Amino acid sequence: MNKLAVIGNPVKHSLSPQIFTLFAKQMGVEIQYDKVFSELKDFSHTVTNLREQDYMGANVTVPFKQEAFEFADEHAPSAQAVGVANVLIFQEDGSTIAHNTDGIGIVNDVSRQIGEIKDKSILLLGAGGAAKGALYSLLQQQPSKVTLVNRTASRAVELREQFEQLGNIQTSSFEALSQPCDIIINATSSGLHNTKLPIPIHVLTQQTLCYDMVYGKSTPFLQWAEENGAQTSDGLGMLVEQAAEGCKIWFGERPETATVLAALAQLVSK
Ligand code: NDP
Repeated sequence: MNKLAVIGNPVKHSLSPQIFTLFAKQMGVEIQYDKVFSELKDFSHTVTNLREQDYMGANVTVPFKQEAFEFADEHAPSAQAVGVANVLIFQEDGSTIAHNTDGIGIVNDVSRQIGEIKDKSILLLGAGGAAKGALYSLLQQQPSKVTLVNRTASRAVELREQFEQLGNIQTSSFEALSQPCDIIINATSSGLHNTKLPIPIHVLTQQTLCYDMVYGKSTPFLQWAEENGAQTSDGLGMLVEQAAEGCKIWFGERPETATVLAALAQLVSK
């Protein structure tokens, strides 16, 4: 039996057990997948416990992604580039390797919906961990430009300075945005608090894909995009895609995602 878990605080609402159970069935592997709550100060202890109980690895969710990176002995390039990790793999020699699959998760889900990201213009809202992971992976697809906007402007500038060797990145305030964009990604948690972002209408065209990383609810950002005739997507596909990449790391096989996404969408809408 392959033992896996997702560690978070909170973790009750995680959809990872359902996603991994569907993937495992598809791949014909037997898994036990648990939700593990960790007190904020106990992350290392929680991970060590799982390792000692012969778990093969763990997914890590809010607020432990930076600690997961720090806990690991080795880092895959995806985690090394951003300093946060959402997948841990426990090695037989007792060491732990960290990966980050959030970035490739959003790239795969956006590409599925609008085709190649190469040469597209992107407006990325937010400068937290999710924005950072997304920015690194998006830049690898060679978009024509990524414009970063964040409520706390200095954090967007820091992100630009960290990644500007990898592509054409600019920072802006919401008010100064002047050009239409092909893709707008909301990587802020504003949707969780039902807060409307002050995005000027002229960044939208009817072809613009407005992508909110939050899933399972219609956020003010998605409502605004719909009202103005743009394409919309929530972040459920990103969640499924990052999990599929996790399967590739643990089992050497990347499962098919479309049927799992459809099953999850039904579950979430109930
Ligand atoms: P962080 O806490 O690291 O960052 C939060 C970001 O949101 C910051 O840029 C913050 O701005 C901004 N923000 C928070 N509240 C508001 C607001 N009211 N108005 C404007 N900006 C706001 O979170 P993460 O980066 O880890 O996660 C961001 C979101 O992405 C979460 O909602 C999370 O659920 C989602 N997510 C989804 C995933 C998926 O698989 N679909 C995977 C990972 C994350 P400031 O710097 O000014 O504080």
